[in-house]
Order: sequence, then structure tokens, then C-alpha cells
Amino acid sequence: MSHCSVIAIDGPSGSGKSTVAKRLASELGILYIDTGAMFRALAYSANERDIDLDSDYEVSKFLEQINLEYQTSDGALIKIDGEDLSEKIRAHHVSKLASIISQIPAVREYLLKFQRSLAESKTCVMEGRDIGTVVFPEAFSKFFITASIEIRAKRRYDQLVENGQSDVDMDQLIKDVAKRDQKDMGREVAPLKKADDAELVDTSQMALDNVISHLADSVKKKALQFGIDL
Ligand code: C5P
Repeated sequence: MSHCSVIAIDGPSGSGKSTVAKRLASELGILYIDTGAMFRALAYSANERDIDLDSDYEVSKFLEQINLEYQTSDGALIKIDGEDLSEKIRAHHVSKLASIISQIPAVREYLLKFQRSLAESKTCVMEGRDIGTVVFPEAFSKFFITASIEIRAKRRYDQLVENGQSDVDMDQLIKDVAKRDQKDMGREVAPLKKADDAELVDTSQMALDNVISHLADSVKKKALQFGIDL
């Protein structure tokens, strides 16, 4: 099999994969691509425009009309029709909407093309749920990052509080995380799943620095093995 220069990082929400993926990309000096931000941006924008997600016609019209941009040069900005959505898409309600919209085949098809074109001939770290299985099955290096459900909910809690949300209920958050996992793993199209050739990394008990250095070592070895320039 020929390999492509993508490092695929998949895993459930709150597993720490975003932090890990960002840090790994910066350590290796390569591009970081956050595919969750794309689902979030589409969800946010569809909601703002009152798009009926049960209507194939409305969804495909919406996808035809929007101009999605992912600017990697100045810190991973995500825009739709020129509006920077990078902060707005982090709200809790957008997580739920993103999980819903990500089950729509037309949306996945649209973002699959978008993600492939972004990473074309570039070495990058791409983070998501189906990068190693569907978007870039030929990625030269793949990781599946996970952590226990309680730890993932606690991390989400800290993140929301840090973003200024004060009305967060921890028990509800655990339920939300479990529900989102179920949706992500149980959907028909591109479910959240570890690729057979991905390395499983459980971050529950690992310090971030250790996770990063472990991943960076593994990537460098694979890059040598497959002749990929980092
Ligand atoms: O990673 P993040 O939590 O930002 O992703 C938001 C939602 O987008 C996830 O719950 C998941 O449903 C969806 N998603 C996906 N495939 C990806 C990335 C995200 O289905 N590659």
C-alpha cells in the first residue's frame, strides 16, 4: 500500500485528542487540521439559517450555497461566507448540533472532499473521528486517542467553565458525553472506530508531555520507514 503524508488522530470527544494533535503538529512543525471544527461550523450556520436537517433538499441547497474556509496560515480560523466562527462553534449547544449534522451523508460527503483537498500533498496532523478509517485510510501514521468517560466529562467541564459558562452540571455532562459517543459510534456513515492499524493511546493516566513525546517518536520512526519528509 502506498502511504500519504497525513498523521491521523481519531478518538471520542474529551479524550484530549485536540490538545495532543495541536501540540504534536507544533512539535513537528507541520500543519494542524481540526475536522470537528468543520462539522461544528456547518451545524452552527445551518442552525442560524433555520435549515431543516430532515430535508435532503434544504441540506444540499445549504451546502451548495455556503463558502467554507479553513485558514491554516494564521492559527486555524474557520469561516463561513467570510464570518469567523472559530469561537462561536465552541458553545455547548453547538456540540450537540454537530453530532446531529455529522450523521447526514451529504454533509459527510461534502466535508470528505473538503478535508482531502486541504491535506493534498501536505504533511499534516488531521484530527477527527474517521480520519484513519475513511478520510485517509492510507495515512502513514495513525493514533486512536481515548480516556475514561468520567475523565472526558471532567475535561469538558473545565473547558466550558474556562470559556465562561457557569451553569454546567457534571452529571448531565457525563450523560451528554455517553450519548455523543453512542451517536458517533453507532451511526451508519463513517462511525467513530479505531482503524485496525491505528495505535491505541489511553490518556486517562498519562501526563500530556509523555503522550506527545510518545507520539512524536512513533511518527518519526514511521516517517523514516515510509520515506515521508517531516
Ligand atoms: O471533535 P469535536 O467535538 O469538535 O467534533 C464535533 C462533532 O463533530 C462530534 O461529536 C462528531 O459527531 C462530529 N465529527 C465527526 N467526524 C469528524 C469530526 C467530528 O463526525 N471527523
